[in-house]
Amino acid sequence: MKYNRVIVWFKNDLRLHDHATLSNACKESFEVIPVYCFDPRQFERVDLGIQKTGAFRAKFLIEAVDNLRSNLIALGGNLIIRMGIPESVIPELAEKFQAEAIYFSEEVTQEEKKVEKNLESTVWKKGIQTNTFWQSTLYHIEDLPFPVNQTPEVFTKFRKECEKFSQVRKSIEKPEKINFPEISIELGEIPELSTFGLSEPSVAKKGVLPFIGGEDAAIQRLQSYFWENDCLKTYKETRNGLLGPDYSSKFSAWLALGCVSPRYIYEEVQQYEKERKKNDSTYWMVFELIWRDYFRFISKKHGNKIFLPEGIKNHVDNWRKDAKLFWDWAEGKTGIPFVDANMRELNATGFMSNRGRQNVASFLVNDLGIDWRWGAMYFESQLIDYDVCSNWGNWMYIAGVGNDPRENRYFNILKQANNYDKNGDFIRNWIPELAKIPGYDIHQPNTLSKKELKGYGVFLGSNYPHPLVDFADKEKG
Ligand code: FAD
Repeated sequence: MKYNRVIVWFKNDLRLHDHATLSNACKESFEVIPVYCFDPRQFERVDLGIQKTGAFRAKFLIEAVDNLRSNLIALGGNLIIRMGIPESVIPELAEKFQAEAIYFSEEVTQEEKKVEKNLESTVWKKGIQTNTFWQSTLYHIEDLPFPVNQTPEVFTKFRKECEKFSQVRKSIEKPEKINFPEISIELGEIPELSTFGLSEPSVAKKGVLPFIGGEDAAIQRLQSYFWENDCLKTYKETRNGLLGPDYSSKFSAWLALGCVSPRYIYEEVQQYEKERKKNDSTYWMVFELIWRDYFRFISKKHGNKIFLPEGIKNHVDNWRKDAKLFWDWAEGKTGIPFVDANMRELNATGFMSNRGRQNVASFLVNDLGIDWRWGAMYFESQLIDYDVCSNWGNWMYIAGVGNDPRENRYFNILKQANNYDKNGDFIRNWIPELAKIPGYDIHQPNTLSKKELKGYGVFLGSNYPHPLVDFADKEKG
């Protein structure tokens, strides 16, 4: 049986390639109406007045939706855009346009699940069907060698079992044509940032990459990172870098909104291995994508627990709720240059390296003792690549409330700075007021004499803060 007309509700799957939901809709229905709904709840303010979606992420999302619309138009379709609560808006559209079914991709975490469930119960009463598809991971949920509620708690076990007993499915070709109905439909306009009370962020030129949302930019980034700049063969050695576009792939933002599928990346890795080189680095790219899968399946297994202070480990800690300390951290004013430079990069660009994220997160929870969920919330707002499972999952692990067999996730900031920014170039890029301090000394301005600091134009407590934590004292103590 074929439907006459279905709605494809796009969410975090803003692409045409490898899109099970769209491809099935095109096969199973004569006409397809693609819809994207901007949900105002995603732009509300939460604890500490933090806006759930900040300007960088919102801008990237708007660009991605815009690009999706263009690509759908190129196939004869279009994208209806609405502003509102999806569980009301989508059923109303389905009724208005007499769609017989709504197709969408499945999410895993509580807010998203609640929206899906409410939508399903609304349309069920109206006799409209729903069809959902699993899309976001490298390994399909049905191909896991264990039921998802028995996902191994430890990453290595998860990875080894997937690698041994599962196969990555082939990606799905994009549809050749979208049969959009010839009826009068108000298409809706792509919103401006100001619609959400946000202003255009000025992206710092010294950021790692000018991130542009959308499937086209995602494919272009892969082309340049893998093929034009030939970076994949050295990825494992460079991936802990801090400066420049090519130390790591920067795929995360596009993956988060589904502008590129992990299976597409996987197939390109395989192609690269065939045509250019197969080594530890090419494998490591897939290894990292399996981390991403792991956090998604662990979130599905544990549900709401990933948002609780005690996490999935049920480990109770007395987290501090000190707003002043939190904002010093968030604004890059801790007086610890390696922390501040990373936070300033995040605030100025919406991106931070993995090395940076681990260090600033550890500093917040382990050195300042602040509730890790505030950190996760801040990242949710600021990160251009915010992904609910990867973000809350990684924070949980650093806070020691994930099921990590390594007991201590403490990052010694100065040691890390010495390993990854020995000459202090990263600090010079983001904290110009310290730029004249030569070499590694830039990481510890408080160990220099007042006279030396004056010579470098640094006045602690005036143009750069005193450190919130004295690591030298800590080590002595
Ligand atoms: P690459 O090094 O090029 O890796 C390739 C891809 O593998 C990434 O794009 C990403 O999809 C995946 N990946 C790599 N490392 C991880 C990891 N530790 N966990 C999950 N997936 C990974 N990543 C997000 O995508 N969204 C988040 O909201 C997010 N929040 C984080 C919060 C904290 C506290 C920490 C420590 C890490 C977080 N990460 C998050 C993971 C990681 O930092 C980023 O995925 C990575 O830095 C993105 O840069 P890249 O695409 O160049 O990564």
